[in-house]
Amino acid sequence: MTYFDYNATSPLSPVARQAWLEAVDNSWQNPSSVYRESVRVRVLLEKSRERLGELLGCDPSRIIFTSGATEGVNAIFAGYGRKFAAGGRSVLLSPTEHPCVTEAAKRFFAGRRGWLRIDSAGQVDLEAFWGMLEQEKCLIVSTMAANNETGLLQPWGEIQDACSQQGVLYHCDASQWIGKLPADGIGQCDFVTASAHKFGGPKGVGILIVPADIYDFHSFVGGPQERGIRAGTEDYPGIAAMVAAFEEAERLSKAEATGRASLREQFEGRVNEQAPGVRIVADGSPRLWNTTLLIMPRFENTRWVRKLDRLGFAVSTGSACSAGNEAPSYVLAAMGFLPEESKRAIRISSSWNTTAEDWLGLADAIAAAWQEMTADNEETSTHRCD
Ligand code: PLP
Repeated sequence: MTYFDYNATSPLSPVARQAWLEAVDNSWQNPSSVYRESVRVRVLLEKSRERLGELLGCDPSRIIFTSGATEGVNAIFAGYGRKFAAGGRSVLLSPTEHPCVTEAAKRFFAGRRGWLRIDSAGQVDLEAFWGMLEQEKCLIVSTMAANNETGLLQPWGEIQDACSQQGVLYHCDASQWIGKLPADGIGQCDFVTASAHKFGGPKGVGILIVPADIYDFHSFVGGPQERGIRAGTEDYPGIAAMVAAFEEAERLSKAEATGRASLREQFEGRVNEQAPGVRIVADGSPRLWNTTLLIMPRFENTRWVRKLDRLGFAVSTGSACSAGNEAPSYVLAAMGFLPEESKRAIRISSSWNTTAEDWLGLADAIAAAWQEMTADNEETSTHRCD
């Protein structure tokens, strides 16, 4: 099976696996205990935090280890939604955010949730954004760095600058950016969330970056771990594996992201020739090199996914958390696509290990599936006429 669903999750990379095995065998002690072996693990844990600070471009003291992006986002909105409920201050989101953002904002900010204007590719309209920041009683803005369904990149640096100028906090959901593109100082955003399993690290480990001067803010309460912000024994082996995966992906993203985009473009060109009428979502806008969301000219996406599965390729109907859910993609709806168009959308997402042959093999499989489904359909309609 050739896997093309890396935006859903990735396998543990060999370097991460090595780091995890090494730590789980030799550095499994509780970093909060006081004997020397535990102090050694505490030192390793803090070295991991320092290395992440270097990679992300932020002071290591701002990094909190979590179980993943969903936990970090919930902590941010729970903390700020409740604290500022009385002042009626709102959260502004782009309508293409991941459900962990939209649902957490709905729960903790209730009616104080506003929407940013986006263009037809899903990118935040910066001019309208400035206007909203000036008018609204806004406390926090939240956008993704890169969209999980379309790969569209948001101008997170400009959004952070605008927020800082207006005294508004900015949360950047970097779940799909980290590990695919150079981190490029993304740690300078006020809040950042990410999950290790999206870039070759283990599941159940993640990063939350908080402002340096934060107080009275907790993801979990309990013990004093993570400066009391996230109580619970730290998973040092998981953290060591996440840092190893991040280091490798950062090196690759600096050296190879451009070349990888050209593989994806060759694939898109080939699919266009073989299944004329296919649309590439957000084509012409800045996108992740590994992602392409195709609106197929005919047939529902679930049929495409099953057919391609039988031909040896794992692709997705959209985001992993909406796959199997028959409702059309809210991301595409926000971008102006009709429900019947979004029901024909298939998401393809690759990794650093995906080769040119893998991409071309998938293009050929799409052509074969197209022919088979067209033939099946013609046969069915002939039978119906009988
Ligand atoms: N944000 C984005 C953009 C994502 O793609 C995902 C996962 O699909 C998440 C947040 C949530 O990540 P997790 O399920 O690891 O908490």
